[in-house]
Amino acid sequence: MRVLVVEDEVKMAALLRRGLTEEGLTVDVAGDGERALALAAGSDYDAVVLDVGLPGIDGYETCRRIRRNGVWAPVLMLTARGSVADRVGGLDGGADDYMVKPFAFAELLARLRALVRRADSDRSSAIEVGGLRLDPDSRRVWRGETEIELSAKEFRLLETFMRHPGYVLSRTQLLEQVWEYDYAERSNVIEVYIRYLRRKIDVPFDLVSIETVRGAGYRLRKDGGG
Ligand code: CA
Repeated sequence: MRVLVVEDEVKMAALLRRGLTEEGLTVDVAGDGERALALAAGSDYDAVVLDVGLPGIDGYETCRRIRRNGVWAPVLMLTARGSVADRVGGLDGGADDYMVKPFAFAELLARLRALVRRADSDRSSAIEVGGLRLDPDSRRVWRGETEIELSAKEFRLLETFMRHPGYVLSRTQLLEQVWEYDYAERSNVIEVYIRYLRRKIDVPFDLVSIETVRGAGYRLRKDGGG
C-alpha cells in the first residue's frame, strides 16, 4: 500500500511517515499542495492523507485539483478545525473522509485502511448512474431494464465514465484508463469509440448521456442521460 502524505509541519510529517512505514506502508511526503499534485500525477497511490492548512494552495484546493487531474485515490483530510463548514468544504472538494487534529495515530491508520478497503470493494460492485447500470464482475450493462452488448473496449470506456459521473475526462485520461498507454497511432480512437458507445447506450433510447466538452474532453451526465 502506497500513501502520499501532504503536510507542511515537519514534526507531524515525520511522525506520519514513521508510523505508516512501521505498518509496512510505502510513504511519500509533500510539504505543499503543488508538490503533492506533481507527486500524485507521477505515481499510483492507494490513498492520500491531506492536511487542510498548507502554504500556497490549501488542502481543499489541492484535493479539488488532484481530482481534476484524474487521480481517484481515497483522500483523508486532516483539519485543525472541526466545524461543520470545514467538513463540508473538504467533502465537497472530493475528500472521502476527514479527521480533526489532534488525533490518535491508531485511528488514522484504521480510517486509512477502511478507505482503501472500500475503494477496492467499490471497484468490483455494480455501479449505477441514472438509468445506466454496470456490473464489473459479470461484465454486463443495462439501460433501465434493457441489457446492452458492449465490446471489451466499449465496456472499459463506459466503466471509466461511470466511475466519474459529472467529471470531464480528457482524451489522455481516457486513453490511459482504457488503452493503458498502448496508444501510439491512435489519434482518433477515442472519438471513434465514443461514437460506438453513443450508438449503443444513447441513440436507441433517444437520450444523451455522454457530452462533448469542447477543448477539454467528455463527460458522462450525472443523471446518466435520464
Ligand atoms: Ca499544516
